[in-house]
Amino acid sequence: MVELKIVFLGTAAAIPTFQRGLSSIAIVRGAEILIFDTGEGMQLKYIRSKLGMNKKMKIFITHIHGDHCLGLLGLLQTLSLMGRTKPIEIFGEPRVEEFILANQKILNFNINYQIIVHRIQNEGVLVEEKDYCIKTCFANHSILAFSYLIEEYNRPGIFDVEKARRYGIPEGQLYRLLQHGIDIEYKGRKIFAKNFTGPSRPGRKIGISGDTRPSKKLLQFFTDCDVLVFESTFTEEEKNKAIERFHSTALETSLFAKNANVKKLILTHFSSRYDNLNLIKNEAKINFENVHIAQDLDVINVRYAEKERNTTK
Ligand SMILES: [Zn+2]
Repeated sequence: MVELKIVFLGTAAAIPTFQRGLSSIAIVRGAEILIFDTGEGMQLKYIRSKLGMNKKMKIFITHIHGDHCLGLLGLLQTLSLMGRTKPIEIFGEPRVEEFILANQKILNFNINYQIIVHRIQNEGVLVEEKDYCIKTCFANHSILAFSYLIEEYNRPGIFDVEKARRYGIPEGQLYRLLQHGIDIEYKGRKIFAKNFTGPSRPGRKIGISGDTRPSKKLLQFFTDCDVLVFESTFTEEEKNKAIERFHSTALETSLFAKNANVKKLILTHFSSRYDNLNLIKNEAKINFENVHIAQDLDVINVRYAEKERNTTK
């Protein structure tokens, strides 16, 4: 089982507070770190979270409003000063690359490792790794903005050890191959892995909204997520502001999560006007029970679906 956890490095919208930094989320998957947005000063929380300086890393920027991207330069420089050597891949709309290049020129900004920038021009699959992919979809914000989806591929079904024994297959390497869905040959006989494993088991799926109004397009994109991290800048009382500034209210977000059939909803990106986030939480609970209000430095483990865990015991 590969570890999968979400670490909140900044949960405030627009203006930081003493408790909340600007938008940034790290997803730790095994030995890799995926960062979504880099609000100003986010590297402090990154260091406090002890996420490591030299791990394989990809950074995704949802849009180029300052509270989502001004911390990018600080993070890159801090990692360089702390001795990073591995390259970093950065994904964002074309102006993200311009932002980095312009600052490198003005600040004589030196990085000791390679930066590979991918310009996102359209929706679709951005990353295809061995056992997961990352997709993007247009968000509905005041400027060009992207939402992201991390989707693990299906895992092979549960291996039937008893059956393998009955067939006289020796334990060890051959079991491992069958377990991973690979057909083998034993004593001149072809043995098909599918006859020794149960149905394939779904991987985990995490959605990251960035700044957006709820939309039909996103509803389809985020359907059946195990965890959906969605912005909830305002409560319903400020709905006019939410519409005007292309943000969402807690009531809208929770209805969206219910309609998208997600298992867990995590709200983030709160306006600094809310000292008491129970207002947001209570409003969200009207539509959706399994809701969490993100705090900076929160760590949320993402597990396989419940019935999966029962059958693997
Ligand atoms: Zn924004």
